[in-house]
Amino acid sequence: MKIICIGRNYADHAKEMKSELPTEPIFFMKPDTALLKEGQDLYLPDLNSEIHFECELVVKINKAGKHIDAEFAKNYYSEITLGLDLTARDLQAKCKEKGLPWEIAKAFDNSAPISSKWINIDVLNMNNLSFQFLQNGILKQTGYTKDMIFSIDQLISYVSRFVTLKTGDLLFTGTPAGVGPIKIGDKLEGFMEENKLFEFTVK
Ligand code: MG
Repeated sequence: MKIICIGRNYADHAKEMKSELPTEPIFFMKPDTALLKEGQDLYLPDLNSEIHFECELVVKINKAGKHIDAEFAKNYYSEITLGLDLTARDLQAKCKEKGLPWEIAKAFDNSAPISSKWINIDVLNMNNLSFQFLQNGILKQTGYTKDMIFSIDQLISYVSRFVTLKTGDLLFTGTPAGVGPIKIGDKLEGFMEENKLFEFTVK
């Protein structure tokens, strides 16, 4: 199982990071050791860096494929949930500055906490799905699929030109604006259309 993450897929987040808007999707990977399932303890990693939350819609690939046309991408997923692309922000800034890969800032253990609840896309309006992230009960991020620069189908098509997708792979689809640091004791909650999908307490 691999975890593929999309960067800069919402214009408001690209703006807050002072990044240019991409003309093609940007992706990077996290290893399977990054996955943290709801119910497991989320410990703040000791990386000497600010760890930021990035709440994202996560798509589960349900069929192997490569060179998938966007118009057929819907045949490759049927469930979606919410997760966090935890990011060591100052390490990432250093990597960016030096033009180095981002792995130390993105791929560390437990950097991909996800909900244990998967929602069938048939019951959702995928063209205008909303999600929210709350830190200690305070709304920090709101995202809408209509604001994605590249749709889920376009992302699957693009990524599969380079990397064969396999059943069980996870695709993190990018974060909207509002990212910020987490600290020990924080309660982190994710909602999709008002339904709570995850809750983690940082230890
Ligand atoms: Mg992200």
